[in-house]
Amino acid sequence: MRVLVVEDNGELVALIARALERAGLDVDDARTVADAEASLRTMSYAAVVLDLGLPDADGLSLLDLMRRRRDTTPVLILTARSGIGDRVRGLDRGASDYLVKPFATEELIARLQALLRRAPASDGHVLTLGNVALETAGRQASIAGKPVLVPAREADLLEVLMKRNGRLVSHGLLRGQVFGAASGVSSNAIEVYIHRLRRLLADAGATVQIHTIRGAGYLMKADSADAA
Ligand code: CA
Repeated sequence: MRVLVVEDNGELVALIARALERAGLDVDDARTVADAEASLRTMSYAAVVLDLGLPDADGLSLLDLMRRRRDTTPVLILTARSGIGDRVRGLDRGASDYLVKPFATEELIARLQALLRRAPASDGHVLTLGNVALETAGRQASIAGKPVLVPAREADLLEVLMKRNGRLVSHGLLRGQVFGAASGVSSNAIEVYIHRLRRLLADAGATVQIHTIRGAGYLMKADSADAA
């Protein structure tokens, strides 16, 4: 399960990421509301940990945006603001929980795990492209209606490519969304995963193609009817 940590303090991000990873969660981080929006557009998260004091906007504006889009991903607010008014405002606006800084990482993990248990097993969100379907919550893929086992990394890649549907997915975006910005994964390594995903799709008779855009990234398109 992947969690988005929206926090502008780099040290705190590192601390939280280490704790979440120890708890078996994958972590992406965003330092601004704009970064977080970009991540939410291209990836599904099991939960969001949201700081309120961010450099470009109030974290609550991200929560508002998510709820307007009917995005029901659980959001745990993390903030130095301890006033009761702030807590109520956050919860009123659709936050699932609230933790005041400073906090113990054990408490963050415990609360996050409680949220993940409460969240529906499947959000029913299914991406489709050509004859490929991917149920994003459980990472269940099917091709031409038949379930296909897709390893975790390849499933992450597939999700990003399907969400961008025909639009370019840059190396930088893939690195950040699939491998974590800090992983230092090379373009060659990404190429290897793309190659495996292509082979998996082709073997299963998928009617989509992953196109390489030299020096830029990849895009995935459904085969056009006349080319089939
Ligand atoms: Ca902050």
